[in-house]
Order: sequence, then structure tokens, then C-alpha cells
Amino acid sequence: VSSALYDDVVGQDRAVAALRAAAVTPVHAYLLVGPPGSGKRAAARSFAAALLCAVAPGVGCGSCRDCTLARAEAHPDLVVFEPEGAFLRVEQADEIVRRANLSPAEGDRQVLLLADFGDVHPQAAPKLLKTVEEPPASTVFVILVEDVPRELVTIASRCVRVDLGPVPVALVASTLVAEGLASPELAADIASVCGGRLDRARLLASDEGFLARRSLWASVPGRLDGTGAAVAAVADELVASMASAAVGPLSERQAAEAAAVEERRSRIGERGSGRKALEDRHKRELRRLRSDELRFGLATVAGVYRAAATTAPATAVAAVAAVEAAAKELVRNPNEALLLQALLLRLSATVIGAPE
Ligand SMILES: [Zn+2]
Repeated sequence: VSSALYDDVVGQDRAVAALRAAAVTPVHAYLLVGPPGSGKRAAARSFAAALLCAVAPGVGCGSCRDCTLARAEAHPDLVVFEPEGAFLRVEQADEIVRRANLSPAEGDRQVLLLADFGDVHPQAAPKLLKTVEEPPASTVFVILVEDVPRELVTIASRCVRVDLGPVPVALVASTLVAEGLASPELAADIASVCGGRLDRARLLASDEGFLARRSLWASVPGRLDGTGAAVAAVADELVASMASAAVGPLSERQAAEAAAVEERRSRIGERGSGRKALEDRHKRELRRLRSDELRFGLATVAGVYRAAATTAPATAVAAVAAVEAAAKELVRNPNEALLLQALLLRLSATVIGAPE
């Protein structure tokens, strides 16, 4: 039965084996390191289930109340902390320390899951360090990060580290098909633009607008004719397309999650309902969706120029460089509309098919 415990963690056999072994005699803290969409959070949930399961302690039966609640992040002894901003703030560190020193709500163990903190405030790190180093015997930390930021290095050194990698593209595609996507060609297509991120691939697989958005991006180089009017029209369409990407499957899932939390709040009250954490996560998911969408669009545009490289090599190289520069700029510049306009103006100066 326990083989099903990690069935939603795809392509991470080594990490899953490490977590299975660890759950039998857990230490005080684990650090799960892996890129977005590699399944860290699902792995952490199942690991928590194994730690909290009363039927098969240290293994996780996968089906009892403890396992079911833990895997839904609704177990009273699985406490999730979400970042409220770009980094973990001092007040949040205080709250984590306080919570770590409380007794478990139900059983003899509690799991504190710190989800995807980009970095830790310099004044928050020492507070957290002391507790992560030596929490009460009943507390186990599971910390999720994409990589180990500077302020987290010392804390990381006190944890058992488990690495997850990007999900191989072929496995992303076959997983989409196994999960019900009818067209293997579409699955391969989607997998190829998702960079090993199964979460993003799943989202696109259920997103009816994906193909239309991709052809819009692919049409960009051919539509830029050197005029400002073309730049303005294309930019407007791209911005509208990115906005439409945000009202697809993600907003449906978020609405369902918000309704479930609202229901819980009406039963047990605001405290412990997880409403604030959910709202924070939803905001982060939306931000990430927007930047994912733009990145995917830019990669599509760059692909068109690359494909044209045989007929117009110099143009293609300049265009691809401009697109890649824009993708880097995106990290610092959150104004997507302005960034797009600037990029399109540059690309507009290098019309595909023009003599070099
Ligand atoms: Zn169980």
C-alpha cells in the first residue's frame, strides 16, 4: 500500500528513496532542494504523512486519516508556512519559533513545512537557526527551496539535504498522456516548452487557450514590418493574451481551494483555517504564472528567429540576443507591457526576410 504514498511525485526516484529511508528514524530537519515543478511540495506532504501516520508509523499507509489529511495539507500536526513576500521576515521567524516549541495538536509529532522561501531576512536567520538546529524532539522541520540562498547556508548545513531535479521532458510528456491528455503530440509539445516542470505542463495540458497563445507568439516576428503601428498592435495582443492565460485552469483551481478554506473557516474559525497562507500562495502562483507565460512566449519568439537562421544568420543572432536580454530583464522589471514594447521595437528593426 505504501508504494502509493509518493505516487504524485514523478521522476524523483532517488529523492523518494531517501525520504522513505529517512522517515523510519527521522532527524530534526530536512531541506528539499529542487527547481520549481520538481515535486518538492508533494514529496514533503507524503513525507509528513509517513511521519504522522498512526497505522504505519515511519512508513505511511497512504490511506488512513493521518495520511489523507497530511497529503491534503489539512492535518493539524502539519503546519505550513508560506512566504509573505520575497523573503522570510522577522515576524514570521518569530511565529515559526513559537510554533516549533508548542506541543503537537494531536499525536506525538508535528511537522513544520517552510514552503519556498526565496531568502531569509538577515535578522530572521539567527532566530530560525537556533530552532532548526535544536527543535523539541516532537518537531520535524521540512524546508523547501529552489536553491540555497546566502542567508540560508548556515541553516541548510544543519539539515539533511534531499535533492530533486527537473523532470525529464519525455517523462513529463508520458505523464500528461497517462493522466488523460488524448494527444501524444500535444503532450510532447507542451513538455518541450515546460523546462522539466510538471506543474506548469499539467496547467497547460488543461488549458484550452495554450495552442492559440503559442501561435500568437510564433506570429510575432512575421508581423513586425518596421512600423510603430505594428509594434503597438502586436504588444496589445500579447498583453491581452497573457491576461487571458491567468483566467484559465489556475484561477479555477484557486477558486476551488479558496472555497474549501472558507468552508473550514466557517467550521473552526479564522485561526487554523489556513486562509492567509492560501491567499499568499495564490498571489505567488499568479505572479509566477505571468512570468512563466512571458518566458514561454519569449522562448517561442526566439525559436522562430533561430529557425530563420539559415536564411538570415546575422538578423537571427541579433534578434535572439535581444529576446534573451529581455527575458533576463524580466527578473528585475515587473512592467511586462513596457518591456514587451521595448523588445518589439528592437525586433522591428530587424525584419525577417529583409536583405542583409
Ligand atoms: Zn496512514
